[in-house]
Amino acid sequence: MLDLKALYQEVILDHNRSPRNYHEMHCPCQHAEGYNPLCGDKLSLFLKIEDEVVVDASFVGSGCAISTASASIMTDLLKGKQVVEAKKLFNDFHALVTSETKDKNDLGKLNVLAGVRQFPSRVKCATLAWHTMMAAIEKKKSLVTTE
Ligand code: ZN
Repeated sequence: MLDLKALYQEVILDHNRSPRNYHEMHCPCQHAEGYNPLCGDKLSLFLKIEDEVVVDASFVGSGCAISTASASIMTDLLKGKQVVEAKKLFNDFHALVTSETKDKNDLGKLNVLAGVRQFPSRVKCATLAWHTMMAAIEKKKSLVTTE
């Protein structure tokens, strides 16, 4: 049996206890809502994009430790990234948490979330913020769900 507790490493617990960038952003900004019905994770994501650069990122919501930590780490990483870099990071992160192959990319703090690949239902928790981020970048107003 896989040990779910091993998934909740200290970094994840720390980000869940004190999420970074946890606040609403007053617009002008790009905003999207995400919902993962399997777990009940909900989040609102805010991005401030100027000249194709993410100058600020924040979120609010309620969810499990995995979804909160993922959103917390993601918003930290996005700040200062070009939009094209943010999209590449989405692809790299998606590969990290879904791929059965060994890590090829060193994604820094995001590596702590690689363990979710052994728990398919948890992959949706880890990727919710990322799908929501992509929707915010594309300026889609619709609700994002993982279903
Ligand atoms: Zn969850």
